[in-house]
Amino acid sequence: MKSRCGRPPNRPEQPGVVRKIIVAVENTRTVAVIGGGYTGLVAAYRLAQNGARVTLFERGAALGGLAGDFKLQGAHIEKTYHHIFRTDVHILNLVDELGLADKLMWCDSSLGIFCDGKTYPFMSPLDLLRFKPCHLFNRLRLGMVAFYLQKRKNWSGLASQSACNWMRRACGVQAMRVIWEPLLRGKFDRYYDSVSMAWLWARIHVRANSRD
Ligand SMILES: Cc1cc2nc3c(=O)[nH]c(=O)nc-3n(C[C@H](O)[C@H](O)[C@H](O)COP(=O)(O)OP(=O)(O)OC[C@H]3O[C@@H](n4cnc5c(N)ncnc54)[C@H](O)[C@@H]3O)c2cc1C
Repeated sequence: MKSRCGRPPNRPEQPGVVRKIIVAVENTRTVAVIGGGYTGLVAAYRLAQNGARVTLFERGAALGGLAGDFKLQGAHIEKTYHHIFRTDVHILNLVDELGLADKLMWCDSSLGIFCDGKTYPFMSPLDLLRFKPCHLFNRLRLGMVAFYLQKRKNWSGLASQSACNWMRRACGVQAMRVIWEPLLRGKFDRYYDSVSMAWLWARIHVRANSRD
């Protein structure tokens, strides 16, 4: 994989919402944060920065939560796969703030779908057209749906709909069975059919808009 170091330009400042939470607890001064995952750690950091005395409780053996790692033969391996995009402005601002920007590497990503014993590249419109596990009509339909979701800006109407139902209606049963259902099951296991379409929209929209 090719890698490039650098940071994306024109990132906005952090939003005011964090500041509001901090102002609300400033009078209390002593704060307990439960959970040492990413959210708890950042909350504790911000509170401490703003003068609160923070105690962080973590029930696990290590910090990091889902974004943590474990050691295998001396190497640190992520518990679950993670990536950040150029559009993830908040985490990128935090990386800057923590002085870690020079450790951040941007890597070209690649994507494939493993189906019927074969891995199909799944990066470009041409890959989609060559994706034999779906009939041609369904491939074209899938392409139009992906394009629509990349361009759609408003997610609020999708929040109350499940990704499974929305995608089944939009892309058809075959694309649902071959592509979306395995992806959702791989990530959410038995909860796969209750995931909101707003979440899936965000994955598609952000990925498309994060490309150079
Ligand atoms: C397969 C997979 C891939 C993902 N990929 C991405 C990605 O690419 N990009 C992205 O932004 N996000 C990704 N996510 C989501 C991301 O991992 C989570 O949103 C994030 O790690 C959640 O952090 P958190 O601190 O809110 O919760 P958690 O990471 O769940 O942390 C909660 C912590 O609280 C502790 N805890 C719970 N109860 C108690 C208690 N009673 N007392 C003390 N401690 C307690 C737990 O032990 C844990 O350490 C992915 C998730 C998964 C599963």
